[in-house]
Amino acid sequence: MHAYSAPDHDLRQRPAGEILLHICCAPCATYPVERLRELGFTVRGYWSNPNIHPWQEHEARRLSLVGYAQRVDLPVEWEPGYQMVDFLRQVAGREASGDRCRVCYRLRLEAAAACASRLGIAVFTTTLLVSPYQDQALIREAGEAAADAHGVQFYFENFRRGWNVRSQRVREYDLYRQQYCGCLYSEFERYTKLPVGRAGEAPTC
Ligand code: SF4
Repeated sequence: MHAYSAPDHDLRQRPAGEILLHICCAPCATYPVERLRELGFTVRGYWSNPNIHPWQEHEARRLSLVGYAQRVDLPVEWEPGYQMVDFLRQVAGREASGDRCRVCYRLRLEAAAACASRLGIAVFTTTLLVSPYQDQALIREAGEAAADAHGVQFYFENFRRGWNVRSQRVREYDLYRQQYCGCLYSEFERYTKLPVGRAGEAPTC
């Protein structure tokens, strides 16, 4: 299995080398960037988030990351284009929360693993592991499958322990704060508190 975890409390066994960090947004990048640098990694960011809708929201989050990356001297690989249509096609028929998230993680982590392989970076991970609102087990499963498919390693660590640090950094850097996870379904659920059904049917508001 192409995966490994941090020696959590033993920094004498520092992993070395470069790591590609898939970034979902600037706020969630803050703690992993600091933590991975502390562990001795040279961190390179990677942006691929076709799940973020609509386009203006995608751009607000992307531009927030541009500014943050400049401030902390973080190089970032930007996936060109906006694969919104492909995202919606892949999710079609699996719109319920959990079902769609599995697809969403797979798409983004497959792209990250492919990018790591292309760049000759042996290890990758994701800022999705920071959020208590994301399914860490599904993320790990998707990351390890993508790693196997592309001949790289997925680095797993419970970044959730840095959630408070994330909150502090958001204030310090005055980062853009999104109000929902990313897709149109999550935006609907955030504001109505109603779940989207398995086949995409939305309850009457
Ligand atoms: S809720 Fe978030 S993780 Fe789940 S599919 Fe939507 S954007 Fe992706």
